[in-house]
Amino acid sequence: MKVPYILLPGTQADPLVVVRSGFWNFNAIGLFDGDEALAVDPGAYPEEIALLASALATRANEGSPRTIKHVILTHSHHDHIRGWMRFPGARVTIPRHVADKPEISRKRILDGKTAIDETMGVDDPDFAYPCPKNASNVHTFEQQTTLRVGSLEVQVHLLLGHSNCSSVVWIPAHKTLLSGDYLVAPGVPYCRWQAKEFEEALQWLRTFCEGNDVQRVIPAHNDIIETNAKILAAIDLEIDYFQALRPTCTELHAAGLPIDQAIRVAANAMIPFRESRDHVTTRAARRQDRDNAERVLKELS
Ligand SMILES: [Zn+2]
Repeated sequence: MKVPYILLPGTQADPLVVVRSGFWNFNAIGLFDGDEALAVDPGAYPEEIALLASALATRANEGSPRTIKHVILTHSHHDHIRGWMRFPGARVTIPRHVADKPEISRKRILDGKTAIDETMGVDDPDFAYPCPKNASNVHTFEQQTTLRVGSLEVQVHLLLGHSNCSSVVWIPAHKTLLSGDYLVAPGVPYCRWQAKEFEEALQWLRTFCEGNDVQRVIPAHNDIIETNAKILAAIDLEIDYFQALRPTCTELHAAGLPIDQAIRVAANAMIPFRESRDHVTTRAARRQDRDNAERVLKELS
């Protein structure tokens, strides 16, 4: 494994802890207040999960180790649910949509996790899908729920779009939004479900970030985005992306192009668009262009 490192150490003034994984640039996130702590999507490798747990228990702390009172899983993609069982005694909060996944979806998620375990050399035979049926400390919420960590308020908001079970976490006192898989690569929307809902989620994010003066977004992968202006600019890059992609797709669909061909043409048209905004075209971006085009085109047909 690549050695994880601490991106945000957690101090009295800024009690956010972020452990950057060697896997997919994953950010395992947590926060503490007083003698309590919270972990959000706790990490990829067991060593990182342990590092997050020990940082949460001990950073900026003179007393006995803090209790990790809460774990939040933003959604059920396999990189986000790893480690939920490694905080005995914690209350685990998940969107109801995570618990409601049918057996076939759960199996796909667990198979995905097992495949990753194998490449990582991780042995995790007792892992179970997170839901109230599998553990009494797992609790679901509908649209929104509020937790307390010490004296800090932590809100979890359902925000479907990236997946059909996604949520984001808002810490008002620190003006910090943990965006899950939203804004992981601003300008290349990472949609794994339906484009229309993803675009609606972007509008929600924009209104939320503007209305609440969000000053920091910590996505579950890649870089932290700071200042409200930069956050809004990042969201606008994503909104504009769909505003460029959608008309192309509509045109190709109206012209009766077979879907495979339409996906290719629409995805290719995103290259000059993205590069005009100084975005480098990586292989991952190309893959995401095709994926996004396919999702828009499927809505049209
Ligand atoms: Zn995801």
